[in-house]
Amino acid sequence: MEDAVRTELMEALRPIVKRKGLLENASLKSYTTLGLGGPAELLCSVTAAEQLPEILRAASKLGVPVTVLGNGSNTLVRDGGVPGLTLLIADGMAEVSDPVPLPDGRYALTAQAGAPLTKLANAAADASLAGLEFAAGIPGTVGGAVAMNAGAYGGEIKDVLLGATCVGMTGETNHYTNADMHLGYRQSRLNDPSLPRELLTSATFALAPGDGDAIRVAMREFNARRREKQPITLPCCGSTFKRPPGAFAGTLIESCGLKGLRIGGASVSTQHAGFLVNDENGTASDYLRLIAEVQRIVFEKTGVRLEPEVRIIGVDA
Ligand SMILES: Cc1cc2nc3c(=O)[nH]c(=O)nc-3n(C[C@H](O)[C@H](O)[C@H](O)COP(=O)(O)OP(=O)(O)OC[C@H]3O[C@@H](n4cnc5c(N)ncnc54)[C@H](O)[C@@H]3O)c2cc1C
Repeated sequence: MEDAVRTELMEALRPIVKRKGLLENASLKSYTTLGLGGPAELLCSVTAAEQLPEILRAASKLGVPVTVLGNGSNTLVRDGGVPGLTLLIADGMAEVSDPVPLPDGRYALTAQAGAPLTKLANAAADASLAGLEFAAGIPGTVGGAVAMNAGAYGGEIKDVLLGATCVGMTGETNHYTNADMHLGYRQSRLNDPSLPRELLTSATFALAPGDGDAIRVAMREFNARRREKQPITLPCCGSTFKRPPGAFAGTLIESCGLKGLRIGGASVSTQHAGFLVNDENGTASDYLRLIAEVQRIVFEKTGVRLEPEVRIIGVDA
């Protein structure tokens, strides 16, 4: 951004967000679970859905590109950082409603986009509502989970989403049904480049009454499986690659003998080959080279092209 544009944008944003909510040249390492990459040129923490139309209008008017982050648990920031305005939709917008009965016997829970998925899953369990057990250990926000149609252990957001409220880049609010959100394997209308850009502000989930104890048991069981099988204590982004048709990325990578393969500070987890971890304070360049090397070897040995699931943002150093 040119200096004059940045100054004008900051002047427009200051009355909308709190003083501490706007940071120049802010390192994004602590805003992503991979903990690498460069800074956001301008980082703005959103604390209310009502702020978004004004923020987006101000950025659009000045032609400033907008990037959105939730918990950054599926995001790789390149070493040169993210030009333009990066919006953080996380703890400042994290309310989860009480359950509301629906005509079909289910109950609706509405969560703001920044609510942790675990908070939503726990709210459902507290109310003995079934359907979100799979989400208990996914470290994303509701916004990131809907955008990615997050899923695990046979469940996915698509199974339980009733509707979503989004805001477009010129500030208009749109309400969508589950079908309108075009949820597919790790995709949605929110990351479909052929559709106008929109940000999620809240989502409503329809959940069936269930047995509270059984729901808690399932959540604990899924979390135990994660702790046993996944390197969840190391900086990572979950599965780095999408599941290729008819196979598992981790199994293919392991079958190629790549567990432990290292480039700089990034390596293929020795615990679960589908997880590429930043275990020795690596750079985005290390991590991207490791992705490319794994893709090259797996393709050579198996003919399968692995596609990254992690969203790669920003510019090279
Ligand atoms: C240890 C670990 C385990 C994981 N396990 C799983 C798993 O089992 N299943 C699974 O599916 N994923 C898993 N993940 C990946 C990740 O947690 C999910 O994809 C999660 O849903 C991402 O949410 P987030 O808020 O962190 O998104 P971010 O990484 O912040 O963003 C991801 C994408 O969503 C977009 N986005 C975020 N918020 C909004 C919004 N409000 N409006 C519009 N777009 C938005 C971003 O622009 C970006 O394109 C795992 C990650 C880790 C680190």
